[in-house]
Amino acid sequence: MTSTDTAHNPNQRLVHQVSDGCACAICGATARPLALHLLERSYSKDATPAKGFLVMAMSVEAVRGIFPVCDLCAPACPTCGLPVATEQVLKFKKSVGAKNGNGVCPQHGDQNLGKRIGAIFKRTLKAWRSKKS
Ligand SMILES: [Zn+2]
Ligand SMILES: [Zn+2]
Repeated sequence: MTSTDTAHNPNQRLVHQVSDGCACAICGATARPLALHLLERSYSKDATPAKGFLVMAMSVEAVRGIFPVCDLCAPACPTCGLPVATEQVLKFKKSVGAKNGNGVCPQHGDQNLGKRIGAIFKRTLKAWRSKKS
């Protein structure tokens, strides 16, 4: 990857990457491209990180890292190319207490929320309309 590629596509660093020897934290696959900026977490130095945790940085009292997720567990979004936080990912995220990194598809990350808001909006509109007539 050249620097022009990165400038061309700022998401390049955030999409799935082929990385040697890393396993998906959810399914354990090692031969798949992995999303490295999907789930982040930090632990205090004496805590035992959950399985699949990958240390990225260390400070005096904390260890910061990520949970790599493969492109089967978190498929790339057809629109922006970033990994989509599927139900499986959200479940895993909750179980290990991770938070979203900056490599998560922004528009389609929570489709249910979008649907819910849409339903509320429709209901409000209907109520407003029936009041008028
Ligand atoms: Zn996986
Ligand atoms: Zn997207």
